[in-house]
Amino acid sequence: MKIIRAEHLGMCFGVRDAIALALETAKQEPLTVLGDLVHNETVLAELRGKGIRIEQQPMEAKTRTVMITAHGASKRKMIETRSRGLNVLEATCPLVHVAHRSLAKLVGEGFHPVIIGKRDHVEVRGMTEDLVAFDVVLSEEDVMNLSAQARFGIISQTTQPIDKVRQLVRLLRERFPQSEVCFIDTVCQPTKQRQNAATDLAQKCDVVVVIGGAHSNNTHELVKTCSRFCARVHHVQTAGDLRADWFCADDIVGIMAGTSTPDSVIVAVERAITALAVNNREFSRAMDH
Ligand code: SF4
Repeated sequence: MKIIRAEHLGMCFGVRDAIALALETAKQEPLTVLGDLVHNETVLAELRGKGIRIEQQPMEAKTRTVMITAHGASKRKMIETRSRGLNVLEATCPLVHVAHRSLAKLVGEGFHPVIIGKRDHVEVRGMTEDLVAFDVVLSEEDVMNLSAQARFGIISQTTQPIDKVRQLVRLLRERFPQSEVCFIDTVCQPTKQRQNAATDLAQKCDVVVVIGGAHSNNTHELVKTCSRFCARVHHVQTAGDLRADWFCADDIVGIMAGTSTPDSVIVAVERAITALAVNNREFSRAMDH
């Protein structure tokens, strides 16, 4: 069995910086993170182990300092949080800020805002909570159900695959040929790199293991991309989810990981697959004798 890692995989700078800020702050004072700092249970358990509290709403915070996650938040939520007398620390990724600014520019210029993404995702809620009128679309059907507007201004959630985003923008232009359509590409660079790497990897492998949290959007998108090019794709959160019967002795196994997956989990999964490879080889030899 041969194991190869994707050219780009694992944690992005936005998530790394947010974790570093949380750990550094927690050394000085008690800290509550509002929402899941990352969509990865291993990382969240480590943060809790350092005394960092994780709550979903500002009213649940029992510390004076609270942190907004890398996914960002709306102005409304920031004001509401500060109005409770809380000290707000922002870990919003700079590339999420770019998406917020792009959206504000489009709205300011009179475009009807359309966000390509998941309506209930924390990043998309942060983008839309300050808007009066907007649409969120994720599928061709969503685009076909939009009402006509004179001017559409489109951005996307930072972790959507760019191919899918471009396809939906194309469809919207076809559906509303009379409308002016302005699209600003806000898919972040780490997402694009991982999506491209997933395509390359899946084409070379017999089986691909994608490592990431159960609620991680970019991990789910990586699974979908790999599945377009490889029939045997498995999503695991940790090495404990691996199963020996996924692998054959002469397989080429690819390893990919989402932007919230820590290096330690990637290394553990790689080691566990290597151990399974050794066991499979010994099993094959025993069967030959
Ligand atoms: S996935 Fe992209 S936008 Fe989100 S934290 Fe990472 S770099 Fe920033």
